[in-house]
Amino acid sequence: MNPLIPSDRDWPEDSSDENGNYLSHCSSCGLTFIGHKRRYICRKCQREHDAWWAAMSPEERERKKAENERATQEMFKKLFKTLDKDEQV
Ligand SMILES: [Zn+2]
Repeated sequence: MNPLIPSDRDWPEDSSDENGNYLSHCSSCGLTFIGHKRRYICRKCQREHDAWWAAMSPEERERKKAENERATQEMFKKLFKTLDKDEQV
């Protein structure tokens, strides 16, 4: 894939921004895209995610949010445990 050829993974709406033409790797599919330097996901994956989210019932969305919240808390607990260990060495 040539990153210089525009693709449906790019964010053309970012291109006029000062930091809108960064070449990045999508954290979902791993492919390159051009967009704002703060974007971490390509436009194609974002659209797929939006469609997936829109197809869920409100109850499913709440359950998913709660799952994500728990997963984030677990990640931080593990991270801080690791940091504590490092300090004791
Ligand atoms: Zn992607």
